[in-house]
Amino acid sequence: MTKSPEASGQRGKDSRCRWCRHVLAQSDGPGRKKEFCSQKCRQWDWVARQRATELELSENELVVTRDELDTLKDQIYVLHCAVIDARTDLVAGRHTKDSLLEMVNWLLEAADPVAAASLSPSLRP
Ligand SMILES: [Zn+2]
Repeated sequence: MTKSPEASGQRGKDSRCRWCRHVLAQSDGPGRKKEFCSQKCRQWDWVARQRATELELSENELVVTRDELDTLKDQIYVLHCAVIDARTDLVAGRHTKDSLLEMVNWLLEAADPVAAASLSPSLRP
């Protein structure tokens, strides 16, 4: 199985997108070091900084909507339950190929929304 740089823990210093924290592709060429994975992330970071200045927030504070945070918490909770179920099933033993496939599918189903999640700054005053 091939592991992504994120999964295998091969993280270089400052090699993550400043906004979404995804690992950035290595760039050994000349020029400024890449800080964002996409133009979208660069824009969200800029918007967040503008809002933080307006609201006099510190560097480490971010305003997100309660809906967005609750959705992320719900997704994390589902993943938490899937991990507990998988551990319980593994301890119980007697696995078939089908039961293991079912377990992996349940884990992936629970993990996909978390893996794709991204927070955006609140645009409301
Ligand atoms: Zn990014």
